[in-house]
Amino acid sequence: MNTPLISLKGIRRAYRAGDEEIEALKGVDLEIQEGEMVAIIGSSGSGKSTLMNILGCLDQATAGEYRIAGRAVSSLDSDELAAMRREHFGFIFQRYHLLPELNAVGNVEIPAIYAGMASASRRERAAALLARLGMAERTSHRPGQLSGGQQQRVSIARALMNGANVILADEPTGALDSHSGDDVLEILEELNAEGHTVILVTHDPKVASRAARVIEIADGEITADTVTRSLDRKADGQAEATARKRSPFRIGAALSEAFQMALVAMWAHKLRSFLTMLGIIIGIASVVSVVAIGQGSQAKVLENISSLGTNTLEIFAGKSFGDVRAGKITTLTVNDANALSGQPYAAAVTPTVSKSSTVRYGSTESNALVNGVGAQYFTAKALELSDGSLFGASAVRARSQDVVIDSNTSDTLFPDGEDPIGKVILVGNVPARVIGVVATRQTGFGSSGNLALYMPYTAVQTRFLGETTLRSVILQVDDSYEMDDAENAVTALLTQRHGTKDFYILNTDDIRETITSTASTLALLITAIAVISLVVGGIGVMNIMLVSVSERVSEIGVRMAVGARRSDILLQFLIEATIVCLIGGFLGIAAALGFGTLLTTLSSGFSVLYSPGSIIAAVVCSTLIGLTFGYLPARSASKLDPVTALSGE
Ligand code: ADP
Ligand code: MG
Repeated sequence: MNTPLISLKGIRRAYRAGDEEIEALKGVDLEIQEGEMVAIIGSSGSGKSTLMNILGCLDQATAGEYRIAGRAVSSLDSDELAAMRREHFGFIFQRYHLLPELNAVGNVEIPAIYAGMASASRRERAAALLARLGMAERTSHRPGQLSGGQQQRVSIARALMNGANVILADEPTGALDSHSGDDVLEILEELNAEGHTVILVTHDPKVASRAARVIEIADGEITADTVTRSLDRKADGQAEATARKRSPFRIGAALSEAFQMALVAMWAHKLRSFLTMLGIIIGIASVVSVVAIGQGSQAKVLENISSLGTNTLEIFAGKSFGDVRAGKITTLTVNDANALSGQPYAAAVTPTVSKSSTVRYGSTESNALVNGVGAQYFTAKALELSDGSLFGASAVRARSQDVVIDSNTSDTLFPDGEDPIGKVILVGNVPARVIGVVATRQTGFGSSGNLALYMPYTAVQTRFLGETTLRSVILQVDDSYEMDDAENAVTALLTQRHGTKDFYILNTDDIRETITSTASTLALLITAIAVISLVVGGIGVMNIMLVSVSERVSEIGVRMAVGARRSDILLQFLIEATIVCLIGGFLGIAAALGFGTLLTTLSSGFSVLYSPGSIIAAVVCSTLIGLTFGYLPARSASKLDPVTALSGE
């Protein structure tokens, strides 16, 4: 006799239940030939399902030897076992075990997905199988829309999808009325006639009598083995063998399958998917908007600094900012300014004095800050002339009462659009002629809203102050000199002139640097907060994925029963986690953009600056979070035992 298709020798299967061991199978010897139709009959709890699971490579015996076509099953690894289930066996369960979110065709084609069949031919074959089983009209119905008998037909079609030379049916009629049960048995008989080996488990003698060979099992042991009809062997009775190997070219296709499966699963659990995403959405949205606000404010501050003038040193009397005795120090004079202007590093030098005063034109009166400055002031501060002209060195020498006003002042004193040039205004009691209008200085450090006038410092000294002390000297450093070198040179020169260091220097570069470094410290802080919130989001994803895995054990069981490898399951859950996080990431970015728009329209005080970098980083982050935090749940799903998973419902 040739090698039996299935051969069991001394198969035992013990279950551990607490301290006790239950032997469900106590040494089963059995041989089944290719093309047979065998019924295994026994009362409930006799070990039929246990035997069936071992036959179908869903479960392993604790002792004994199981050979399929001469090949020892105990020597196979988990991928090879999956291949056995996929290519040789077709399972039919009492409770159908269909996936509720897929329609009939979708359910039937699952085994072929794992076998790597192309999607068009797969769909065609699934539809053909369903049509053959009288389900042509029901291909796009979901299990919930089908009767029990129809669902069982779908599950038979699924069992046949990859060829299945052995069909294993565990109580296939158990949940059906007698009419649908008869239909299912007829189908099984037909399949057997076509050459499929059929092994059928039942507790019903009437069902068993349909088979040519009936094996009785009681208490884990075979008690009878009756052949009622001899096997009329078909010449070449082998059912179509369709051992499809997955070639490397199909890895991309497999990924896209896994991607689609993940989308279906997510769509089937919309609320849960959304809640999973929520953590990521909030995390990404806050990161992107906080970064945008941070960068926006930094840009704004830097813009304000540049309004202080570029490359300028401002020398004040006193030891430091806010020195109370500064007012009494009278050593900073025009001579210092003149000495400085002779230095090679000085591109422009101007003394400054200032005085608050009223300013009046006609019946309009307001407060203003009168800046007494030199002719080079406008260059050093990069003030833009918008109308008229500026005063020159000769006007300064002549102490002329010419005044340049800023546009704020112009708007205040000449509200009706009158041309201010040439008009005489009253500054305090001093009449002054408006010769030019300059742009209002950017709102920097508290200078906003104040009216600013610019007059020759000589005029301000004599007409308003009555003294020759300066408020400060502003020095613009030539581009070819380092700011720090210039600052040191100025310090040396003035210390020598005064005999002591009774002044201090404000370096705009220093301010810029301080603010930039403060900003980067802030950015670091924000990044830390961002990382924390993303990790929290990721843990949320992991949590819900873990719950989802335990909710979906029976789905995982079905997939494994029809031949999914552990890596397929791993990939599916990993992809699901990644998609959830990616979609969450995109929603988060959208939320951040919306939030930014809202913020800028509601309040002009904010400026948001979205950098493409931060958005790309957000997308990459959410992908990584999906992969990282999805791995644990995905792995625990892939490590599930097929039998445990199947009985998990
Ligand atoms: P049948 O399918 O014939 O009704 P089973 O094969 O399901 O019987 O079970 C045979 C015996 O093994 C029963 O006593 C059952 O309680 C026990 N059994 C089955 N599965 C498990 C399990 N996972 N853990 C512990 N005992 C089990
Ligand atoms: Mg059973």
